[in-house]
Amino acid sequence: MNLDARTLLFSLILTNAFMVMGLFVAVSCKEGDGKQDGIAKWAVAILLQTLAWMLIAVRGSIPDALSIVVANGLLSGSYALMLAAIGEFQQRAISRWKYFSPIALAMLIASVLVNDVHGRFIWGGMVYIFQLLLISRALLTAPETHTGRAWKLLIGGTVIVIAVLVLRAIVAMTGQTILAQPGVNDTPHWVQVISFVALMGSSLLGSVGFLLMAKERTDREVLHLAMTDSLTGVPNRRALMDYAERALALRSGRSVALLMIDVDHFKRINDTQGHPAGDEVLRQISRLLSKRLRGGDLLGRYGGEEFCVVAPDTDADGAMKLAESLRATLESAVLMIESGKISVTVSIGVALTAANTERELKDILAEADVALYSAKKGGRNRVACFG
Ligand code: GH3
Ligand code: MG
Ligand code: MG
Repeated sequence: MNLDARTLLFSLILTNAFMVMGLFVAVSCKEGDGKQDGIAKWAVAILLQTLAWMLIAVRGSIPDALSIVVANGLLSGSYALMLAAIGEFQQRAISRWKYFSPIALAMLIASVLVNDVHGRFIWGGMVYIFQLLLISRALLTAPETHTGRAWKLLIGGTVIVIAVLVLRAIVAMTGQTILAQPGVNDTPHWVQVISFVALMGSSLLGSVGFLLMAKERTDREVLHLAMTDSLTGVPNRRALMDYAERALALRSGRSVALLMIDVDHFKRINDTQGHPAGDEVLRQISRLLSKRLRGGDLLGRYGGEEFCVVAPDTDADGAMKLAESLRATLESAVLMIESGKISVTVSIGVALTAANTERELKDILAEADVALYSAKKGGRNRVACFG
């Protein structure tokens, strides 16, 4: 295959330009005032690259100061902006020298070596490699970007460019003639061809990766909202049921305990202190209960003033102890509401089942409910076990 380097350079400019348009559409489509995601900065970074390649393409027809010094400054600036975009996405401050000193250095090298293209490939290349390493490090060191899969595309994009820069530097050191801009009549150097294809690939991979990274984060946030009770911040009924189903499906053979917790005479709190005070009591109860749990146990709001604890790997004795300790915790706690101190008690119904016995969750919930009813009937502020 006979690839023409000039056509590739033109395609690189075109793909980058279209990518910038696509990215700006993505920026303008964003609704609400959600977290800053860095997409706008990333779009400007690709725009700077597009401008840099345009200047490089017309080298010879415009002053070298523009097509060499400014073009190198723009390239370095685009990597600085990519780093800034990642910093914004992660909501962490990145020190300014990491942005500005490489740009200044890249432009200095380009002006000193304005007539030495090989020197620029070697020394300028090192500045870019340093910037790309900063980008990779930023991507890999924060969980905000290092979860999901999108970061792999971004890292892939940076690795490709680093590989090309190293290749160009090595070929330049061996004294072979490669130029930044392909000439009209000469056969393209294979390094030129590889460079343009790789740069096109990396800007596509990086941009798709960045958008995907933002999407993955939104997905995580939506999932969290769908699984969290908005009043108390603890898992909601859906999350509880999911967790219980998974615990029941485990083939450990150990028993799973289900604790149904209901606040005693909660209606009275609403009636005497008002609904907002009732809400505050629910928030404090969920905080107190959550603190008492072991790692594998999950507390969630089942509905209204009812909470539920799913405790995998828990036998009858352990479940009763856990329930008793939760009951005692609330009995001895003093809750603070606007009008002053208040105390509450809870009744708890406990049901147990062996995991992997193909029993339905709704049946175990019904048993916990029966036990709760008997705790209420027995005088409240107590624990009862089904059966
Ligand atoms: P018992 O000891 O028998 O459980 O009595 P109770 O008053 O706690 O039970 P009942 O079911 O009669 O009342 C529950 C109350 O919980 C009624 C409802 O208004 C209140 N409630 C349910 N959800 C919320 C909520 O999100 N916030 C507030 N403030 N109150 C709620
Ligand atoms: Mg109730
Ligand atoms: Mg109640």
